[in-house]
Amino acid sequence: MDQTEQLLKSLTEAHGVPGYETEIRALLRQYMEPLGTISQDKLGSVVCTKFGDGPTVMLAGHMDEIGFMVAHVTKEGFLKFQQLGGWWDQVLLGHRVIIKTHKGDVTGVIGAKPPHLLPAEERSKVVVKKDMYIDIGASSREEVAEAGVRVGDPVVPYSEFAVLANPKTYMSKAFDNRVGCALVIDALKYFQSEPHANTIVGVQTVMEEVGSRGAVTSVRAANPDVAIVLESDIAGDVPGIEEDESSVKMGGGPSLMVFDARMIPNIKLRDLVVETAVSLNIPLQFSVMPGGATDGAAIHLHNTGVPTVVIGVPARHIHSHSSIIHRDDYDNAVRLVTAVVAKLDAATVENLTK
Ligand SMILES: [Zn+2]
Repeated sequence: MDQTEQLLKSLTEAHGVPGYETEIRALLRQYMEPLGTISQDKLGSVVCTKFGDGPTVMLAGHMDEIGFMVAHVTKEGFLKFQQLGGWWDQVLLGHRVIIKTHKGDVTGVIGAKPPHLLPAEERSKVVVKKDMYIDIGASSREEVAEAGVRVGDPVVPYSEFAVLANPKTYMSKAFDNRVGCALVIDALKYFQSEPHANTIVGVQTVMEEVGSRGAVTSVRAANPDVAIVLESDIAGDVPGIEEDESSVKMGGGPSLMVFDARMIPNIKLRDLVVETAVSLNIPLQFSVMPGGATDGAAIHLHNTGVPTVVIGVPARHIHSHSSIIHRDDYDNAVRLVTAVVAKLDAATVENLTK
């Protein structure tokens, strides 16, 4: 494994559902400590500042991943759960999870009534989350308590990073958005040896998956003049998706969000990204996401407004235990983001809002 694979493996395998980012935060701090001055806001987002002259450029990735929380323990010893972030019922059954308890990690599996016991007409129906449970192998509420599990404990999907048959493709949980966290780190690293006409603030935010809560507070800490949100994006190159629903392909290059439910990017900044990609021969895809949003929603509304764009790495099977990304998209995203940041001097940034 090279350095990038190692980084993506360690970040995606780290645990950290919204509100319980302790483990991933510690890891991110470790990676960013040599790269700038570290601070932390009171919700837990980590801010790494690389001082320089000129405007403040915020690079933001969210560190939380979708997961669950124990909501109820049945007297038979099964755990009912609350989702943290958006899960589609169909990707849940049969998957392993880890419950983070005060006594340590407990392994479980998401279950439901087996098909053998269902009437024929119910077998073809989708099982909904509220009918599912987590089974940790216990047979009573007391046994669950003995294992250390309490209502309120966070539950993390269990999945390991893997390099696939095409060695440029990687599978893991939480590419949404540890791929963005990695981009923040690699961009900061790049400017260790390259000049930058600005102050770069790398921010790893918390609680994005429950409504960009960490972005609201950390953008105040960063107080940027311009922002680039680094995200995973939805790759539509899988069966059943029409080209007009999503034309973003894994391996087709990083993507630029031109519209989502809660942000329209600053047009001049958007065009700067496009021009930069063209001049460097970086393939660039355009993304439209009417049914979703990113931390950009909170960041671009900071203060009197912050010119903001979202750049993404396409991932197949996003919001599941196993999503897939392409290494070329990642490397090209690093090239694109660092090239755009290098251009954001005082005159360029001032012109964005003229
Ligand atoms: Zn995300």
